[in-house]
Amino acid sequence: MDFNLKKLYEHCTLCPRMCGVNRLKGERGVCGCDAGLTAARAALHPWEEPCISGEGGSGTVFFSGCSLKCVYCQNISISRCETAKEISLTRLVEIFFELKEKGAENINLVTPTHFIPHIAAALREAKTQGLGLTVVYNTGGYERVRSLKLLEGLVDVYLPDFKYMSAETAYKYSAAEDYPEAAKAAIAEMYRQTGEAQLDERGMMKKGVLIRHLVLPNFVEESRKIIAFLLETYGDKVYISIMSQFTPLKSFVEEGGFPELSVKTDRREYDALIDYALELGAENAFIQEEDVADESFIPPFDYEGL
Ligand code: SF4
Repeated sequence: MDFNLKKLYEHCTLCPRMCGVNRLKGERGVCGCDAGLTAARAALHPWEEPCISGEGGSGTVFFSGCSLKCVYCQNISISRCETAKEISLTRLVEIFFELKEKGAENINLVTPTHFIPHIAAALREAKTQGLGLTVVYNTGGYERVRSLKLLEGLVDVYLPDFKYMSAETAYKYSAAEDYPEAAKAAIAEMYRQTGEAQLDERGMMKKGVLIRHLVLPNFVEESRKIIAFLLETYGDKVYISIMSQFTPLKSFVEEGGFPELSVKTDRREYDALIDYALELGAENAFIQEEDVADESFIPPFDYEGL
């Protein structure tokens, strides 16, 4: 890896946590990772939005570790690094080509933020070798603009969450009161890099930003503010995915002390939110059908494809 990229792990400030730890010496910050690149699964994934999964499936690489630590995390075994296999940079490039060989519609980097130096280097190498697939950066939205700039020209589609509008909620569920401001700045930078959303003749997203919002139970007022902000700021220049698939997993219901999260998102509240988005003029929006809040949507993290 390029010396300047590797050095970013020495006093790590890649994400807004700004831990300042030396990951090259094995120290770990909030994301839980040192400078060894770790992942849990690389496989075709059919359950993203249709413009991402298409017919062939999205070529997802799930990285281990996460700087957000949401209390309701649906992928807890990887976000807490309990499932983590170290792979080399060369192996990551090979994985991209193996996914392509299997028919992947794109390369989909899931929770990649804390490995941006590796990812920038791997994407550069893969493009040099003729990868020729759309690259999707799939993130919780808690990003630093300075780090995102390292990906300019390497990422085609940004797929960030926008989770919270208030610092209070962001602190309560993700211990990140700066989340709303960080996510707004990150999405602005993503939009600057990719421009307006572009889909090809098959309806596959080739450029642009697709922002996901997972509606939490008892959260509809904050969801309305998020939808309004995104539509007022970007109109139909970005895509929005309003998700109802919140799954009350036993782990946080029993351990976490968040009784309001022990239920699924109320369908009537979700439908009312969709109506609100439509009233505001949403055109480029994905919505979810009923009965998607099921643990089967969480893939097995069994090191497949690594
Ligand atoms: S990437 Fe990890 S170590 Fe670096 S600032 Fe973020 S949480 Fe801290």
